[in-house]
Amino acid sequence: MLIVMRDRCSPQDVDRVVDRLREMSLDVRIASLAGRTVIGVEPPGFPRGADVLEGLAGVDRTVLLSDPHPLARADVRGTRTVIEVGEVRIGAGRPVLIAGPCAVEDESELCELAVVLRSAGADLLRGGAFKPRSSPYSFQGVGVEGYRWLARAREVSGLPVISEVLDETSLAAATEHVDVLQVGARNMHNFELLKKVARAGRPVLLKRGLTATLEELLLAAEYLLDAGNPRVLLCERGIRTFSGHSRFTLDLSIVPAIRESTHLPVIVDPSHATGFRSRVPAMARAALAAGADGVMLEVHGDPRRALSDGRQALRPAQFAALAAELRALATAIGSVREPV
Ligand code: PEP
Ligand code: MN
Repeated sequence: MLIVMRDRCSPQDVDRVVDRLREMSLDVRIASLAGRTVIGVEPPGFPRGADVLEGLAGVDRTVLLSDPHPLARADVRGTRTVIEVGEVRIGAGRPVLIAGPCAVEDESELCELAVVLRSAGADLLRGGAFKPRSSPYSFQGVGVEGYRWLARAREVSGLPVISEVLDETSLAAATEHVDVLQVGARNMHNFELLKKVARAGRPVLLKRGLTATLEELLLAAEYLLDAGNPRVLLCERGIRTFSGHSRFTLDLSIVPAIRESTHLPVIVDPSHATGFRSRVPAMARAALAAGADGVMLEVHGDPRRALSDGRQALRPAQFAALAAELRALATAIGSVREPV
């Protein structure tokens, strides 16, 4: 990191900054460049608490020379991270298909659907127990009971399960019953939740916030990694733009950008992005062609009766047809390094 001092800062200003850096046990090198005092800080990286330096008298700005998300960055391991969930390997080349209802609504319907999805080629079962809805009058989910139903659905289908957590209560219950914890788009910036979720010791699927940049998504992932959880999956689920034809705008250009910037796997959710089931297959195919490690698809046994997001839910038969297509596509585009 470099600290660039103001044009007419005093020697006392420089001393104050240097003292502060030494208190932080950092090595300091002072140089004069283009008439300015520039303070270089070793070791490289972003020292914890260094933000306070910008507020000190005489400081013009701090310049970060290294990556702001050192744990998430692409070359940190030299290889891509593969996340194992049961027998499923995410990020290993064979795209994973995560499928299931927006919200779990009924135990036996969920179990029935899980078995159908498994035989249609799904790798993981999704389903929300707690639903973060835009309106307080919309269905809010069945609560903790839903995680138990997911565990039961795993038992009968053999599919590992993923579900969203919203707070400490849902986190405690989900950790007991589900295999992968989901942090939804609306909570990507909830850093206290991220720290707690990281400590639960389960893989985490982190959805991109509605208005989050790639940088902000990677910094949110960094919270999970820094808190000691290396099993982080990123998920593009569409962002808010001026476009009105679609629920959100699926930003597929972030997929290759994520692959260049980080070793973490990336999943694409075309269901929430498009908002219409008719558009999901095209965007799922495009996601795999763009290099996604998998897709997350909403599927409901009877979308007309769904308590949330029925318009975007595939019917089981549509999922089965799409899953077969996606397997063939993955082979054709050569993204498969493991047997399909
Ligand atoms: C979901 O996947 O159930 C969900 C609520 O998605 P998002 O957080 O992307 O809106
Ligand atoms: Mn949904």
